[in-house]
Amino acid sequence: MISTQRIINCPNPICTHPTNPVGNRVCANCQTPLIHRYLWVIGSSAGTILQGEKVADRYEVIAPRIWLDTQPGKLPDIPGTIPKEIIPYLRLHQQRLHLPQVYGFVRSQTEAADDILLLENVPIDEAGNLYSALTKAWQQATAVRQVYWLWQILQLWQPLSELGVATSLLIPNNLRVQGWCVRLLQLQQSGQPSIKHLGECWQPLVVTAKSQVARDLQKIVQQMCSGEAELKDIAAQLNGLLLASAAELPLSIKVAGATDKGPEALIQNEDTCYPHNNNAIADSLLPRVAIVCDGIGGHEGGEVASQLAVQSVKLQIRALLQEVTEQAEIVPPDLLQQQLEASLRVINNIICNCNDEQKRTGTQRMATTIVMAAQIPQRIQTTAGWQSDNAHELYLVNVGDSRAYWITRNYCQLLTVDDDVATREVCHARSLYRQALQRPDATALTQALGTKHGELLLKQALFNNRIAVLATKHQKERVIAPILEAELRMKVVVPEDFDTDVFGTFTREVKRPGNQVEAARLKAKKALELTGESLAIASEGSFGPHPEIPFISSNREVVLLLDQIHNLEIVGEELSANTNHNHLVVESVEQAFQFAQKVGFPEHGLVVMFDELPNDKTEVIKGITSEEKLIEAVNFVLKNSPTGKAHLETDMRAMHNPTRMKNIEKATRDLLRKINSCCPECSMPGFTITSRIRGLPCALCYMPTSLTRAVIYQCQKCGFTQEELFPDGSEYAEPVNCNYCNP
Ligand SMILES: [Zn+2]
Ligand SMILES: [Zn+2]
Ligand SMILES: [Zn+2]
Repeated sequence: MISTQRIINCPNPICTHPTNPVGNRVCANCQTPLIHRYLWVIGSSAGTILQGEKVADRYEVIAPRIWLDTQPGKLPDIPGTIPKEIIPYLRLHQQRLHLPQVYGFVRSQTEAADDILLLENVPIDEAGNLYSALTKAWQQATAVRQVYWLWQILQLWQPLSELGVATSLLIPNNLRVQGWCVRLLQLQQSGQPSIKHLGECWQPLVVTAKSQVARDLQKIVQQMCSGEAELKDIAAQLNGLLLASAAELPLSIKVAGATDKGPEALIQNEDTCYPHNNNAIADSLLPRVAIVCDGIGGHEGGEVASQLAVQSVKLQIRALLQEVTEQAEIVPPDLLQQQLEASLRVINNIICNCNDEQKRTGTQRMATTIVMAAQIPQRIQTTAGWQSDNAHELYLVNVGDSRAYWITRNYCQLLTVDDDVATREVCHARSLYRQALQRPDATALTQALGTKHGELLLKQALFNNRIAVLATKHQKERVIAPILEAELRMKVVVPEDFDTDVFGTFTREVKRPGNQVEAARLKAKKALELTGESLAIASEGSFGPHPEIPFISSNREVVLLLDQIHNLEIVGEELSANTNHNHLVVESVEQAFQFAQKVGFPEHGLVVMFDELPNDKTEVIKGITSEEKLIEAVNFVLKNSPTGKAHLETDMRAMHNPTRMKNIEKATRDLLRKINSCCPECSMPGFTITSRIRGLPCALCYMPTSLTRAVIYQCQKCGFTQEELFPDGSEYAEPVNCNYCNP
């Protein structure tokens, strides 16, 4: 069964020659980088499968319990309900720097054998070898590294204990080291070990520890073994030892900042970084601090937010560093962490207030992600006994999806965990990571600076870089495209020769099929059919008496977005009394001109017809926008119509009607608002008001009025509903609206 050349498949789903030899960096056919995903497998039958065998037609056995996924582009087998035993892995997702993640399963063919659990993000190098066990690497390690490894284990103790998997930290072979970083092979569920057990595990290590730290380590371990020491005290002592031994070493820090617009010229650059070319000199924060912020929010909001965040965070950190230098004692890591968190809350409030002051709502609200590295120079007495100016502590702070990586010659390791929907789903044990990534909103942010609690930032991930076909032949793209392209980062295209007139005309020679929304939907579907795309936008207008104000004509515009990939339909709407919709039967050119003046001609076009109900196209002259044309058309109809009269009306097609174009623009903005309103339950866009409850009480007599007391939001995807009381901001109605006080 052992093949001479192992094969790995290109992850590009449309690659025509996906097979490549294992070890190649990129696909020979399409140049897509190849992924060598080595898995650590768990299950009673897993150990018995021999090297060279292929499992489930995709996993190649490299070594006992180490499998290579030869089809890394494909989703692994994931059961419908999440097995209880993997829940600790999911809940501990935030610790992914040290812990493996569940990849998927190989389901057993027989009753007798268990399913096999596949773990990724395991301590295996890119050639498929396990990183060495901590115990094995121990003696070659420097004093600082030895202490740092133990420090990391102690940091993991609490979170792992809470989920009943702290035993994982007691098994020597389970603890692996990749450079400075301690990484676990798997999680072990058994018993509730105490800190004493951990001390006993460390005993053989401290005996062979480097001499500079051996005595102090022994003291710490003795306390642990006594069974009387508190975790907190042990952690403080170990931290003190770590800082004191690190402070002996020279420290070299270099920072540099650069920002790039990226390949899409459409998108403005909303990043801000520190340092940047123009502030690199004479700043006391350098080289201790580096910041990257990526702004979010319409109309320059993102740029403003990211700049605001960088400036405020610099002030905060300057104050923090000052405070730290004034301390006689070592400031412990949990305290520093709290201080950094407090700084971020301040910045969050600054941006939030800025949003409120500028009355920014919905997409206009600005926010920013942040990642910051802060090197805190605590003064400390070294293990050798001299005063050092720096204890070599580096803190990483991140909110949103700005990231920090650890890059070496051999690997590039992500150090931060994004605040996005995929992470949220995994941490709540609702989904495996690979499964969560399949969600259309996987990369939507659950946190950013400047947002209020619970706000979800979809970051337009759903429509990012997609082509949207706009079904129009009346130049509606002039108002629709700029808005959607800038806000949703999609590319709006208008198909050539797309005749929307077959779906009805305002001049009635072609009847409209169904109601307004149905007609728009039909246009959108037709556009998708024609182009083979998956995202379409269509609009439809109607004119008639205003539903609430009698004797006034109105224009209702709908702009509909149809997304076949996410099975979404969202409709933006605008009802406006602002319209020139009108008609008149005339018997002379003079009468025609009087009418024309009233309806905003020639900016607004006119139509001249034989009769109000034309039989066919030949009896309709559309798009009249000059006096000569008007005279010509009216004379022609007066001469040839059987009645000797001409029917005049306003041309309602968008390109000949600026007033209507404005209303289409407003409907597009409404569409955008609805897209940006996401369901709190499933986070799909289109969480919109579906009904209004009247009865806002009168401020004087408390009787219910006809004003809105509450609105109901409903998700059209999952059906989740939410009531919002007093949507207009006031709990009482003015008595002028009351039937009793003001009948
Ligand atoms: Zn390929
Ligand atoms: Zn009243
Ligand atoms: Zn929902």
